[in-house]
Amino acid sequence: MSTFDLFVIGGGSGGVACARRAAEYGARVAIAEERDLGGTCVHRGCIPKKILVHASHYGGDFEDAAAYGWAVDGARFDWARLIANKDKELDRLRGIYRTMLADAGVTIFDARATLAGPGAVTVGGATHATTTVVIATGGRAQRPKIPGANLTITSDEAFHLKTLPGRVAVVGGGYIAVEFAGIFNGLGAVTALLYRGERILRGFDADIRAAVTDGMKSKGIDVQTEANIERVESAGQNLVATTTRGERLEVDQVLVATGRVPNTHGLGLVEAGVELRRNGAVAVDGWSRSSVPGVYAIGDATDRVNLTPVAIREGRCLAETLFNNNSMQPDHRDVPTAVFSQPEVGTVGLTEDEAREEFEAIDIYRAAFRPLKHTLTGRAEKVMVKLVVHRSTDRVVGAHMVGECAGELVQVLGVLVKLGATKAQFDATVAVHPTAAEEFVTMRRPIRG
Ligand code: FAD
Ligand code: NDP
Repeated sequence: MSTFDLFVIGGGSGGVACARRAAEYGARVAIAEERDLGGTCVHRGCIPKKILVHASHYGGDFEDAAAYGWAVDGARFDWARLIANKDKELDRLRGIYRTMLADAGVTIFDARATLAGPGAVTVGGATHATTTVVIATGGRAQRPKIPGANLTITSDEAFHLKTLPGRVAVVGGGYIAVEFAGIFNGLGAVTALLYRGERILRGFDADIRAAVTDGMKSKGIDVQTEANIERVESAGQNLVATTTRGERLEVDQVLVATGRVPNTHGLGLVEAGVELRRNGAVAVDGWSRSSVPGVYAIGDATDRVNLTPVAIREGRCLAETLFNNNSMQPDHRDVPTAVFSQPEVGTVGLTEDEAREEFEAIDIYRAAFRPLKHTLTGRAEKVMVKLVVHRSTDRVVGAHMVGECAGELVQVLGVLVKLGATKAQFDATVAVHPTAAEEFVTMRRPIRG
């Protein structure tokens, strides 16, 4: 049995960030990881997903190249090679995470850990004393409770398929569903997206939701709204997915992306008196403190804003507060985020609907146009940029974009929204020409107030 100042359960984005920062300040730190150091983002999330997104763009790029004088003959796609190259990169990252933690002096346990009370953690058959415990166990995909759910895959399995399916039904209308629909479609699979609601990407600005729907359809994805999955059956080598509209889709794979749940079950939390929310998330305050003194929780296990940079921020703030005498609370407002759908989304701050609820008067600036690149290719692809402005202060309280590089741009827009930049300051900035982003500083008149 060892004694630690901090024991982190879960070696994903949040846990690793917290452990490393605390160790830098001289704390005696341990981390337990039952699968892969680096967690969801590195092994089953952001990184492999973005690699597949990159891969899926090439098909369209090869087609577009013709308009620019290029002949790309005999282009062929090899799924097995892509997956092997992706796995090689993930192995490299796994190694880096281990080295980073070891170099920082963190004790690593490659095993499942559970809470054995407020000041104790059990791992590998031994119980260790610790002053503080951080629950950083992330979340996992949940399948809808339908007949044949066992025949479906989640994003976890999608990264390891032996072959690229020829026909795919993707279920859900959130981040993962729209991203994977774009990936499979871009790689050449006949792709249908089944969403139970009226419009995909609930919670995003209405103009983003409309622009992504139109963009996905124009790329050939069969976006079906108000059409949920009812059951899945196997039919020989194939699957048949029946929708609530009675349609039967014959496909090779059904990918369900119907949300994720926090990994908090069987951790000893309830026994230790740690309060959980209805969906199993650890209930925490602004300092990431649970209801039990000395037990903290960060990242997806708390279901606040389930993004890697947020988990990292929460982990580092906690380490600063506990071990550097530097009280820091993570700020969950105005978190910029990208959806790597095709077309891509970048968004920060308030949606138009949220701003209307919060403020008496707002102005909406919006432009939608065909980007220069596609004037030659003839693609019906559009870019949409939008600013939501608080009229009385002139502050830009929301910035939204759909189109190429929206994810890259929103990082910078995020700084401006965070700084409280005004529309007048956007207007005073000289445009960069010819770009799509220049529209952000050239929109003169509101389209609605
Ligand atoms: P995780 O990274 O999930 O880490 C938790 C770790 O705890 C896991 O490694 C798990 O094995 C381990 N664990 C669980 N229980 C125990 C236990 N009892 N003992 C020991 N170890 C345990 N976010 C973005 O910002 N950008 C993206 O592009 C993006 N893309 C995504 C794509 C997909 C397909 C998915 C699923 C997620 C994506 N996310 C993205 C979200 C992002 O991955 C998560 O928000 C982030 O990983 C959360 O970090 P975390 O540390 O809370 O949890
Ligand atoms: P989301 O919560 O974003 O979306 C889940 C979707 O599934 C919603 O459209 C929801 O519909 C639908 N749904 C839920 N339950 C059912 C059901 N029983 N039957 C049919 N449909 C259902 O979850 P995701 O799994 O897409 O992603 C999880 C989180 O991971 C994201 O919220 C995000 O925080 C993070 N992530 C971030 C990414 C990024 O930064 N680019 C990429 C991928 C994930 P409804 O809208 O009606 O509730």
